[in-house]
Parts: sequence; C-alpha cells; structure tokens
Amino acid sequence: MNILKDKILRDGIALNSEVLKVDSFINHQVDVNLMKKIGIEFANHFRDKNITKVFTIESSGIAPALFTSLELNVPMVILKKQNSKILNDNFYTTEVKSFTKNTTYNLTLSKNYIDSDDNILIIDDFLANGEAAKGAIKLVENANAKVAGIGIVIEKAFQPGRKALEDLGYEVYSLARIKSLDNNKIEFVN
Ligand code: 5GP
Repeated sequence: MNILKDKILRDGIALNSEVLKVDSFINHQVDVNLMKKIGIEFANHFRDKNITKVFTIESSGIAPALFTSLELNVPMVILKKQNSKILNDNFYTTEVKSFTKNTTYNLTLSKNYIDSDDNILIIDDFLANGEAAKGAIKLVENANAKVAGIGIVIEKAFQPGRKALEDLGYEVYSLARIKSLDNNKIEFVN
C-alpha cells in the first residue's frame, strides 16, 4: 500500500535494526484518515470470506481493526492483556511473549463474544515473531471457531512471524513489508 509506505518513510523511526517506531501515526497519535484507508484495504481483501467478527490485540491494533470492522459491518473484539486475578471460567486465556517488552502477558477473551460458528479476521499493527497472532489464533480455536485470515499493517519480513503463521495454515495479508531496518534506514521488500 503505497500511501502507507510513504508515511512510514516520512514519519517512521528505526529505533534499531529490530524495532520501528510509529507513534506519530498508529500507536500514540493516530492518523485516522490513513487508518480509514487501511480499514477499507483490509475489508476489500477479506470481503468474500464471510467474516463475522474482527479481533485485535490491545492496544495498538485497535485503530486499524476498528475501521476494518466498520467497513465489513461486523463487531470488533479487543483481546485484552489482563492480569490473572480478574480471570474466571468465563474467559479463554493464553500466555503470549511480548516482542517489545520481552515479558509475557495473558491474552484473554470473554466467552460472551465468540461462538463456534464465528469466522474471525485477526488484525494487528505489527508482525514480528508471530506470538501475538498465535495467541489470538489459540483463543479462537479454544472456542472451536475459525480464523479466516490475518491482516497486518506492518510486517517485518526479516523476522519469522509470517512463516510461523503460514506453517499453521493461515493466510497473512500485510500492507507494508519491511526488508531491513539496519543503519536506521527503512527498506521495503518491494
Ligand atoms: P509478535 O507477536 O509478532 O512477535 O510481535 C507483534 C506485536 O509486538 C505487535 O502487536 C506489536 O504491538 C509489537 N511489535 C512488534 N514489533 C514492533 C515494532 O517494530 N514496533 C512497534 N511499535 N511494535 C512492535
């Protein structure tokens, strides 16, 4: 998606060779016009897949997921990073290794917001090692529902997330694929 790539080149900051900062348009301040276009792009790509809900992981996936669900006219569900104290039998939960914080957290989903006949589109801001998306997949599978595909705003193609998800049999559709962040320079796959 060229408009996204231009924005990344203009406003993204390669913090080091592994991490891209996008605080000024996705993670902290949000460029809503860009997010709307991203939502339309994801919706057009997955429109014929009979998506019943869009799932995302709090908090930085919310903006692109919201516009995607608006365009598909289905609910958006935010998978929450909860402290285990509030969890009970009404939640599905799985442990996820955080890429940016180097810790683990519980990703949770209330059983009230998924049914076995749901067909879920997972949307997230970044794909690195695929841990967050794999956690989301596990929660959907716990409910015996289906994952229809995974939409990623920015894929770091030099990290193993895509392969991990494709090996599990899922389609990954990313809007910008980064080849390298070496020497503070952002390079795309194509
Ligand atoms: P994964 O679970 O695929 O290893 O990492 C994806 C998650 O980590 C995303 O939900 C995202 O929030 C965060 N993340 C991974 N890489 C980056 C990055 O380069 N920049 C930012 N801002 N977040 C990242």
